[in-house]
Amino acid sequence: MNTSPYPHLLAPLDLGFTTLKNRVLMGSMHTGLEDKAEHFPRLAAYFAERARGGVGLMVTGGYAPNIEGWLSPFGSRLASSSAAKKHLLVTNAVHAEGGKIALQILHAGRYGYSPLSVAPSKLKSPITPFTPRALSASGIERQIRCFVRCAKLAREGGYDGVEIMGSEGYFINEFLTSYTNRRTDEWGGSYENRMRLPVEIVRRVREAVGPDFIIIFRLSLIDLVPGGSTWDEVVQLAKAIEKAGATIINTGIGWHEARVPTIATSVPRAAWTWLTKKLKPELSIPVITSNRINVPEVAEQVLADGCADMVSMARPFLADPEFVSKAASGRRDEINVCIGCNQACLDHIFAQKMSSCLVNPRACNETELIYTPSAKRRRFAVVGAGAAGIAAATVLGERGHEVHLYEASDKVGGQLNMAASIPGKEEFHEMLKYFKRKLEVTGVRVHLNTRADAASLAAAKYDEVFIATGVIPRDPKIPGQDHPKVLSYIDVLARRVPVGQKVAIIGAGGIGFDVAEFLAKGEHSPTLHLDEWLAEWGVVDPSTTPGGVTKPRPSAPIRQITLLQRKAGKPGAGLGKTTGWIHRAELKSRGVEMLGSVNYEQISDQGLLISFGEKREKSTWLEVDNIVLCAGQLPLRELAEPLTALGVKVTLLGGADEAGELDAKRAINQASRAAAAA
Ligand code: NAP
Ligand code: SF4
Repeated sequence: MNTSPYPHLLAPLDLGFTTLKNRVLMGSMHTGLEDKAEHFPRLAAYFAERARGGVGLMVTGGYAPNIEGWLSPFGSRLASSSAAKKHLLVTNAVHAEGGKIALQILHAGRYGYSPLSVAPSKLKSPITPFTPRALSASGIERQIRCFVRCAKLAREGGYDGVEIMGSEGYFINEFLTSYTNRRTDEWGGSYENRMRLPVEIVRRVREAVGPDFIIIFRLSLIDLVPGGSTWDEVVQLAKAIEKAGATIINTGIGWHEARVPTIATSVPRAAWTWLTKKLKPELSIPVITSNRINVPEVAEQVLADGCADMVSMARPFLADPEFVSKAASGRRDEINVCIGCNQACLDHIFAQKMSSCLVNPRACNETELIYTPSAKRRRFAVVGAGAAGIAAATVLGERGHEVHLYEASDKVGGQLNMAASIPGKEEFHEMLKYFKRKLEVTGVRVHLNTRADAASLAAAKYDEVFIATGVIPRDPKIPGQDHPKVLSYIDVLARRVPVGQKVAIIGAGGIGFDVAEFLAKGEHSPTLHLDEWLAEWGVVDPSTTPGGVTKPRPSAPIRQITLLQRKAGKPGAGLGKTTGWIHRAELKSRGVEMLGSVNYEQISDQGLLISFGEKREKSTWLEVDNIVLCAGQLPLRELAEPLTALGVKVTLLGGADEAGELDAKRAINQASRAAAAA
C-alpha cells in the first residue's frame, strides 16, 4: 500500500536514461545571481539548499546563447568553455546534495532590452524600447549553432540537461506566429516554415549532446495575444518537438506582452492545467504543467486528474526550499507558501535588483542571512503580532531563545488579516496559517488579548524588547470628516461596517486599491471561480480562437466608486511593477473612476466636495453615501520612549519603525535580519 501523502507527486519519473526522484520541477526563475560569475557561490548555495529539500529537477534562470539573445546588456550568457567551467561550482553543489539541474537557454529575441536584439522580422515589441534587427537566413543559421553550442557547454558545465525556452513571446516563440513572423523565406509563411526553427534547434541539440541528456522544451500552450498560435499548431509543434528528440515538454502560458495575468495572486490556482490536460494525450513524452500551483495538495490533484506528468513550481521554491521534504514527511502545515505577490521576486528583477521572497527573505541570500543557533539562550519580548512581530519572534525562537509575543487583539496577523479579506488576495490566509504553525514549531509563547505596558515589560527583565506595534491611520483633517458617512478602512475591512452604493475613497495607495477591490467585488471572488475569472479576462480555448484571447467579459459593477488622490499622475503608480496594471484593469472593468490632482474641501450630508487645480478654481460635489479614508498611516510606537527611559534595550520594527510605504516585504525582511543579528 502506498502511504505517501502525495502518491502522484512523489512518485519517481523514469526518463529512460535517468530517473527523477519525484514529479516536482523547480521552474526557471531569474534571480539576478546568474549574471556575474562572482555571484556563483551564492547561486550554488541557493540551488544546493533546494536540492537538499528534495526537488526532482531544477532549472536555472535563463542564459542567452549569444549576445544577440541577451535579455539585457551584459546579462547572463553561456557561450564559452571558460564560462562553462565556472558553472561547475553550481552543478557540483547540486549533485553533492543528490539533486539534478538543467540550464535554461533563453534567447530574448525582440524582448531583448538591448540595441543588439534580433528577431524573425523587424517589429518592435510593445514592452521594449528597441526595434530588433530582422535576421537573414544565415543569421538564423548562426543562432541555431549558438543554441547547440550553449547546450554542449551546459553539459561541459556539469548540467543534467537544458531547457530550451520556446514560449513567453521570446525569440523561438516569435517565429511561430505570423503576428511577429512576416518572413517569406523558408522560415516564414506556412506553419511548417514558422515552426522550422524550434524543431531544428531541438534536433541539432539532441544530435550534439547525445541520448543521455535531458532536453526540456518549453512550449507556449496559449499565447494570450491576438493572432497567437492555434491549438492545432500547438499540437503539431509539440509532436514535431517530441520527434526531434526532446525528453520533456514544459508549459509556457502567455507572452510577456499579454494583458492577461498568468501568475499573479489573483489568478486562480492551477488556472491553466486544462491546457496540459488537452495536450498530454497527443504525446508519449512527459508533459509538465505550471503556473499558480503553490501547495502540494493542488499539485497532487492536478497529477491525479491526469492533467500532466509533472508539476513545475518556481516561486514556491523561493518561498520554501524544503517544499518537497516537508510535503513528503507529513509537514504540509510547515510549508512557507508562496502567496503570488511578486513583490520581492519579479518586481525586483524588473527593477534590476536581486530577487528574494517576501515570505522568505533568506531566498537568494542563503550565504549571508543565516539563522544561527544561539550559544546562549536569552529572553526576548516582541510586542505586536503582525508580520514584523511574528517574523522576529519566530527567527528568535528558531535560534533557541525564549520568546514572548504580546498581542493586544484576540488573534495574530495584524494587517495581514485585512489583506486576506480582499477578493483575489486569498493566499494571505496561507501566510497566516503558516505563521501560526511556525510560532508553535519555534516555541514562541503567544500572549493574546494582552496589551503590554512599559512597566511590566521592564519588570519581566527581558534581555531585549522588539517593538512591532504597527501603525495607526493618518488623519487627513478634512472639514466635516466626523460625519457618520465617513469610515476608515478598518471599519470597512475588519469591522465590516455596511457601505452604501455610492462611495468615495480618499487615498489611492495599496490600501485604497484594496478597499476599492473589496467594495467593487463584494464578497464574491472570481479568483475562486475559474470559468468566471477566465471570462473576465477574455480567455478562451485556443481551439476556437487563435492565441486563446478575446474581448473581456467583466461582471456588472455592484457599486459606484470613485478612487481619489491629491497628487497628479495615474492612481496606483506606487503599486507593484508587475501587478499594478492588474489592479488598475480590474477596477476599470468594474467602472471604478480614478481621479488624481484633487483637493478635499468638505464633507457634509451632500457627500464630498472636491476641487481641482492649484487655485482650486473648479469644484464639484461627489454625492456619495460613504467616504472611506485610506490616507496612509503613521507609526505607533508609544512604548519605545518609556522602555528606553527604564533602561530596556529596544528595537523598532516594521510600521512602528517607519510607516511610509510600509509593506509586509519590508517588515518581514527587517524583522528577520534584526532577529538573526540579536
Ligand atoms: P500608501 O500606499 O502610502 O498610500 C497612502 C495614500 O494616501 C496615497 O494615495 C496618498 O495620496 C494619500 N494621502 C497621504 N496623505 C494624505 C493626506 N494627508 N490626506 C489625504 N490623502 C493622503 O499607504 P496605504 O495605502 O496606507 O498602504 C500602506 C502600505 O501597505 C502601502 O505602502 C503598501 O505597500 C502596502 N500595501 C500594499 C498592497 C499591495 O497590493 N501591494 C496592498 C495594501 C497595502 P496623495 O498624497 O496623493 O493624496
Ligand atoms: Fe512568492 Fe511573493 Fe515570494 Fe515572489 S515574493 S516567491 S510571489 S511569496
